[in-house]
Amino acid sequence: MLRTHTCGELNINNIDENIKLSGWIQKSRDLGGMTFIDLRDRYGITQLVFNMETDSELCKKARKLGREFVISVSGKVKERSNKNRKIPTGEIEIIVEKLNILNKSKIPPFTIEDKTDGGEELRMKYRYLDLRRNPVRKNLELRHKMALEVRKYLDSQKFIEIETPVLIKSTPEGARDFVVPSRMNSGEFYALPQSPQTFKQLLMIGGYDRYYQIVKCFRDEDLRADRQPEFTQIDCEMAFVEQNDVLNTFEKMVKHLFKVVKNIEIDKLPRISYHTAMKFYGSDKPDIRFDMKFVELNDVAQQKGFKVFDDAELVVGIKASECADYSRKQLDKLTDFVRKPQVGANGLVYVKFNLDGTFKSSVDKFFNEEDLKKWTEKFDAKPGDLLLILAGEKEKTQKALSELRLEMGNRLDLRDPNKFCPLWVTDFPLLEWNEESGRFHAMHHPFTSPKKEDIDMLETEPENVRANAYDVVINGVEIGGGSIRIHDRELQKEMFTALGFTEEEAQEQFGFLMNAFEYGAPPHGGIALGFDRLVALFGGSDSIRDYIAFPKNNAGRDVMIDSPSTISAEQLKELKLKVTE
Ligand code: ASP
Repeated sequence: MLRTHTCGELNINNIDENIKLSGWIQKSRDLGGMTFIDLRDRYGITQLVFNMETDSELCKKARKLGREFVISVSGKVKERSNKNRKIPTGEIEIIVEKLNILNKSKIPPFTIEDKTDGGEELRMKYRYLDLRRNPVRKNLELRHKMALEVRKYLDSQKFIEIETPVLIKSTPEGARDFVVPSRMNSGEFYALPQSPQTFKQLLMIGGYDRYYQIVKCFRDEDLRADRQPEFTQIDCEMAFVEQNDVLNTFEKMVKHLFKVVKNIEIDKLPRISYHTAMKFYGSDKPDIRFDMKFVELNDVAQQKGFKVFDDAELVVGIKASECADYSRKQLDKLTDFVRKPQVGANGLVYVKFNLDGTFKSSVDKFFNEEDLKKWTEKFDAKPGDLLLILAGEKEKTQKALSELRLEMGNRLDLRDPNKFCPLWVTDFPLLEWNEESGRFHAMHHPFTSPKKEDIDMLETEPENVRANAYDVVINGVEIGGGSIRIHDRELQKEMFTALGFTEEEAQEQFGFLMNAFEYGAPPHGGIALGFDRLVALFGGSDSIRDYIAFPKNNAGRDVMIDSPSTISAEQLKELKLKVTE
């Protein structure tokens, strides 16, 4: 046996016991006749003591050990005179009697400390060393705990975990596929799943009524900050359900996770429609930790001779409470913010409702006290409040104001990272127009069912058809989404038509599913939650990479194994592939 205990468990109750520990050398100190070594493993740190007087050979041997050497020691547990109350093992130390060097280590390229001197790239190249650091270990432990709790909860609800294939078929819907050439079927390719969507639906047809899988998905998208080409979903599907059943089931799961992992009780999740979310927050993933809802001003702000407002499709603003004392400089900064290309507004109108009851605005030329008073009434503003107003084309303006709202939330410290406000956003549009391809795309995916009452509009006004689709959003982050599915061949065919597929294309790509619908497909629906993002959120970080053992960088590369890489001429030949420049 290389150890009787771990480095995190010995304490005052083990005094005088003979024990054996193994681990890595965190650091060592020579103090006159004594050498102290901090020995580390996954569980903690234990102090080892070597005494020059009692065993000079052993002490000399200990002095030669470097950081990150792997050793195994036997010795006796003693009470420490100099106690460290910060760690569980801080009241004891081990008087070492035997030392065995299990492996040497080169000097690590960065310090294995909570606050390391290693930059991101270097830590990724030596991820196995980075993994030894406490913060990374804690993140992976959180991930494990959450996966376990998801499984426990879903198991308790009779869901069963079923694996679906990783080598599947490429389809043009959704994001770009990663493809894998087939050697045995030359000229043909598998695709890696963007999600197990069609398989989980087939499982419902197969009678498995409640499925889940914590599963890797792959999307070959241009990598925006903090996207991974491979990521993990908690993928679920249920048969014989309506939207409400799915929402209730997964609302309970979200609450369960908050309770058992963070000891936070979450109230009932608000449910708001996509339309409402856009109207009041300008976003389909609103951060509702703070209020600051949009107020539309078209009726009181137009036709007063201010061209910017008069020409606008939407005049809309937010109220920043107690900000009427903002300086010229602060307001200029906000104007610069909304003008950034990512935000996209042309300018910002402000109204200060001064403490003395007077008004000061950037549009005093066009609006008198009485006009401005009307605006403040719409906002239910009090003296001391500041109104920030944007105008322009509806969607663009909503989006820009949403950014400004979040920015103000940050500035006013209203986005407390320890507060969690999940909600459901429902009734998404079924389709969205895609300028590039000149056709409608499914907003969620093509298997999503339209709302029954909207089906008739599929041919006449497809843009107004609402879907039985929903997202779960937490603190402004989309954590997951799903829908009630189409389970009828005819409706699915109609949907493909609306998406611009010919009948042959639909049959060629999704015939397997449509055929399956003809053999007693039950009504079904489901959801998938982004597991990496959920864990990051629970961990209080924006970066999903911190919660993945071996993540890829922003260019989609694994810098440790140096992938992707070229393959040999032989492999290419075998696959009958040619690389052209
Ligand atoms: N497959 C969908 C996705 O990956 C989720 C779902 O509809 O269940 O977004």
